[in-house]
Amino acid sequence: MSDIITKIKKQRTFAMIKPDGVMRGLTGEILRRIEVSGLKIVALKMIRATKEQIIAHYPMSDQAWVDRLGEKGLSTFEGLKLDPKQYLGTDDKTEIGRSVAQSLIDYMTSGPVVPMIIEGIQAVDMVRKLAGHTLPYKAEMGTIRGDFSVDSPAVANVERRAIHNLFHASETLEEAEREITLWFTPEEIMHYSRAGDDIMYSKTY
Ligand code: ADP
Ligand code: MG
Repeated sequence: MSDIITKIKKQRTFAMIKPDGVMRGLTGEILRRIEVSGLKIVALKMIRATKEQIIAHYPMSDQAWVDRLGEKGLSTFEGLKLDPKQYLGTDDKTEIGRSVAQSLIDYMTSGPVVPMIIEGIQAVDMVRKLAGHTLPYKAEMGTIRGDFSVDSPAVANVERRAIHNLFHASETLEEAEREITLWFTPEEIMHYSRAGDDIMYSKTY
């Protein structure tokens, strides 16, 4: 098989069950959904993340990323016809984004997390699809966030907390590569074949 096809079959992404997912007893259900899709979990652990790890994980010094955090919340205020200035003291996306970034550190260090590496064809996009939209009320039914979480940035922002949406998944291949090296050493990544690999991904007839 050509190298390029092998590479496509072994695309890797990073995902993590957040503290609310672990503490609600959804670890098994989330892992089940990943496994039955045919994707392979090649690294997995349960840890208590440090503040430093979360700061390194989210691109907190990236202005565009911080602004996007703020924007994601602002649209919800618009939808509810609420004035963010009245509830948050500002309608500036950067200021709101910075406050959300701080809340994210508190949220992600509030309990155990389960980071993992997932391998398979189009793994990055597949795991994003399994996760669903960032905002639980926009996440489709059938996705992890859609089926098991209900939250709104309007409420979360006023309460100065992050949106509780159970699960993290890398958005791009570059993000996946960066996050994999942040959370796992090469020795922690497993190489094994799964029963069914040949039926799913090879011509056996
Ligand atoms: P995703 O996790 O879908 O990739 P982001 O990278 O934009 O989404 O945001 C990281 C996390 O920050 C989200 O999963 C969510 O927990 C939290 N978050 C994002 N936007 C907001 C917001 N406006 N208010 C509160 N929390 C937010
Ligand atoms: Mg993201």
